Formats: sequence, structure tokens, C-alpha cells
Amino acid sequence: MTLDRLQNYIGGAFQPPLSDAWMETENPYSAAAWGLIPRSGAEDASAAVAAAKQAFESGPWAEASPTARAGMLRRIAAVVAENAEELARIEVRDNGKTFAEMHAQVQRIPDWYNFYAGLADKIGGELLPEARPGHMTYVRHEPLGVIAMITPWNSPLMLLAWKLAPALAAGNTAVVKPSEFTTASALRFAGLVGEAGLPAGVLNVVGGLGAEVGAALTGHPDVAKVAFTGGVSGGRAVYAAAAQDLKPVSLELGGKSPNIVFGDADLELAARGVVSGIFGSGGQSCVAGSRLLVQRDLHDAFVARVVELTEKIRLGDPMSPETDIGPVANRPQFDRIMTCIGWALEDGATCVTGGTQVQDPEGGPGLFVAPTVFTGVSNDMRIAREEVFGPVLSVIPFDGEAEAVAIANDSPFGLGAGLWTRDVARVHRVAARLQAGSVWVNTYKATSQIAPFGGYKASGLGREGGVEMIADYLQTKSVWLNLTGEVPYGFPL
Ligand code: NAD
Repeated sequence: MTLDRLQNYIGGAFQPPLSDAWMETENPYSAAAWGLIPRSGAEDASAAVAAAKQAFESGPWAEASPTARAGMLRRIAAVVAENAEELARIEVRDNGKTFAEMHAQVQRIPDWYNFYAGLADKIGGELLPEARPGHMTYVRHEPLGVIAMITPWNSPLMLLAWKLAPALAAGNTAVVKPSEFTTASALRFAGLVGEAGLPAGVLNVVGGLGAEVGAALTGHPDVAKVAFTGGVSGGRAVYAAAAQDLKPVSLELGGKSPNIVFGDADLELAARGVVSGIFGSGGQSCVAGSRLLVQRDLHDAFVARVVELTEKIRLGDPMSPETDIGPVANRPQFDRIMTCIGWALEDGATCVTGGTQVQDPEGGPGLFVAPTVFTGVSNDMRIAREEVFGPVLSVIPFDGEAEAVAIANDSPFGLGAGLWTRDVARVHRVAARLQAGSVWVNTYKATSQIAPFGGYKASGLGREGGVEMIADYLQTKSVWLNLTGEVPYGFPL
């Protein structure tokens, strides 16, 4: 069988990698390779950066008015909306998440492009108060240049939108390195927006491995900023490499997010929120609520309800509307999840449900892990400290509010936190003390282009979303005008 051969998108055209190297890309449900993606090298990265640099410096994009840029972002939004079903199918074929989830996610992507379109023509400068006698001083906000965007496999096009929409609104150009597991959707998206009129070179996509083309982009002297979403080790490597050139980076990394359930909560709402917070997307979500902190006197009854709901989750074909969780996205991720389950058992946690690989009900070869709940977990066990990125919930009891906050914050991560209570004073007290970039009260995982998102501690650096965040894609310049006609500072004397 001949596999489809996907090509890089550089300077407005699809082209094979200069490296002439290719990798298979697999459907995790059928476990069959369906295509070949470029395994690009440093020369491909350089070609893409050169195209992006040229488009930044001259031509239709560089000359476009802010209003024209806004119009282009709205066209991108329309293109995504019109092609949402196809784009969602491409995502499912590569990452195995359910079509229902990916379709809903892709349908929300236009909101990001429309939101930042609204800001594109509102990036003003400021006339400052007289900063020195007889001088006029004003501030310009300018785009940075070429932005490298490195994205993971779990929500590829959405996490690209979080970077690309503000970057383009600010007038930058982009080179995208999608995950080697999910390269197809970014390439299709680039082709579609190119057909819709995005000028050549504004958006370029190069496929390949993080350590190869990702590292080449990060270290490229003409890349002005790196926007990265992925795991801690990749994020650390990008941060260290960018430091060599003193290049700004934004990092959206992993989490070990707590869901804290107090005795005064609506317990049925909380149980459902906890189950969907960890098992939605099979736990392959950066904000997965992987630690359940539950007030000790509720523990047994609450865990029983969580387990009851967990055991109803339907695994299977991600394209079927009957399926709640598809296969694990790829073999390394499956191995990682099974290793973490092994740690929990070795460290003395009790597995109350799941804990094993299970078969697809249709008998297919995809890799499935049964939704798993561990009790008897203490917060110093590896299962409570390390991100699993899979369907594994660890339950930790607490006695009072202060202990709940202490356990929640005792983590290398700080991405999200859920709080389940009906006590309004407690809501504000605890929300203020939690070290997490997003705190959800009687809900979980809500995100929007309107609200900043990001992490404390090892969960990242910087925020995505919200109005202010466009500043991360801008450079600030002060311009001084001497209106006095006198020699500055009286020199030479
Ligand atoms: P990953 O770190 O393995 O890969 C992410 C991207 O980085 C890929 O494109 C990869 O090729 C690239 N990469 C890896 N090493 C690199 C290097 N040295 N230099 C340059 N690029 C490099 O992550 P993943 O397995 O694709 O995704 C899962 C991780 O992403 C989880 O830790 C998850 O929590 C995190 N994530 C975070 C968010 C967030 O917004 N905070 C959202 C989704 C996923």
C-alpha cells in the first residue's frame, strides 16, 4: 500500500523536506500507518524562517493595515468554521480522541481568531507626559518578527490558535512545528488559510522531531520568540536553548491538578465534575484533575460514587458517538501510563478500579487503559507528583481547609485547580491561596480566549488568552523628540 506523503508548507507552497527524510504517522485506533510526514532538518527550518522573515519585512503582510490584518484573521476564523468537520476528523485520525470532543474543540477555534481580530486594529501607541523639559516622548508597540510555535499532540489546532491568533493580530509571522504524532492537521490548516488569502510566508509549517527541527527553530538567530506547549523536559530544553540568544519564550507545560471536594459541596455535581475532569480525553489533557483531595469524613461514600461513574465510561472507536474515551494516543504515552500505574502499586496505593490494559470492544488493536482510581495515596508518592497524562486518578484525604490548600500547593506544578463547595467565603479564601493559573469553582476545565490561561511553577511561563497577552507578541519602543532646538545636555560645552 502506498502511504500519503505530506509535505511541508513553506512560503505559500507545499514542498518535500530538503532532508528527503520521512516518518510514518499512525492512526492510534487502527494501529495502522496512514501517511508519511516530513522528518525535516535544520535546512528546512532555515528555509521556513527565511520565508517568514521575508514576509515580515516586505510585501503584502508587512504593508497590510491593522484593519486589513483584522480582516485576514476573520477569514481564518471563517475557514476553520467551514472546515471544522474535516479538521476534526484529521485530529482524531492522529490522536485518537473522540470525534465529539475534537469537533466541539475545532468549532471553538474561530472564537480565538475573531477575538484577536478585534484587537489587531486597537494596538495603539501612547503619548507620554513631558518626560524631560521641552521633549515629546511617545511609545510604539511593534511586532517582534518571526515566531516559532511548537505544539503537542493532544489538542493540536486549538493550541496553535492560542499562539497564532495573537501573533498574527500583532503583525508577526510564524513557523509552526507541530507534534510528530499530529502533523497533518496543521498542514491542512495552512493550505486552507493560504487558499483563503493569507499571504505567502506568513504561516509556515515544518514537520519533524522536537530534538531536530524543533531545536533548529529554537536556536535560529532570525526567530524572535518561541511559543511552546508540551512536556516539562521539552520546555526546559527550549528555555535553555533560547537563553543562549536571550530570546523570549512562553511555555505551557504539564500539570498535576487537584480537585478539592469539601463536605458542603453539591456532592453529585462534584463527583461528575471530578470524573469528567480526569477521564475526559482519557486524561490526556494538561489540566486533567489527576489528584482528588476529598474531605476525610466523605471519603468512602464519595469515592464509591466516583468509582460507580468511572465504571460506566465507554471505551472504543473514537469516531462513534457511543464512545467516551478513545485509545491512548501513541505507544510511548501508553508505556508511560502503565509505568505510572506500576509506581502507584509499588509505593503502596490501592487500585480500586482499572489499573490494566483493556481491549477495544470491537476487538481492534488500539491501546486502551481502563479508567483507574487509586486510593491510599499520599502526596509524596510518585503517582501524586508526576504527570501521568492518562486516565489515572489518585485520591488523597484531608481534614480541614488549611490542609487541603497545603496538599494542593505541595506540587512541582500549578496549572489548574478545582474547588467544590457551596460556602462563598471559602471560595474566595481558597481560590486566593491556591498556586494555580486557573481555579475552577463548581466546574472544571473551562477555557476561553477571553480568560488568560497558564501555569505557576513547572507548569509554565507566561499566559495565553485574554487582552493583555497580545503584549507578549509586541516589542515596546520609546521615541524622543527634542522640541527645544538646543544641543542635548549642553554637550559639547
Ligand atoms: P512534548 O514535550 O513531547 O512535545 C511537544 C512539542 O515539543 C512537540 O512538537 C515536540 O516535537 C517538541 N519538542 C520536544 N522536545 C523538543 C526540544 N528539545 N526542542 C524543541 N522542541 C521540542 O509533549 P507532548 O507529549 O506532545 O504533549 C504532552 C505534554 O504537553 C504534557 O506534558 C501536557 O501537559 C503538555 N500540554 C500542556 C498544555 C498547556 O497549555 N499547559 C496543553 C497541552 C499539553
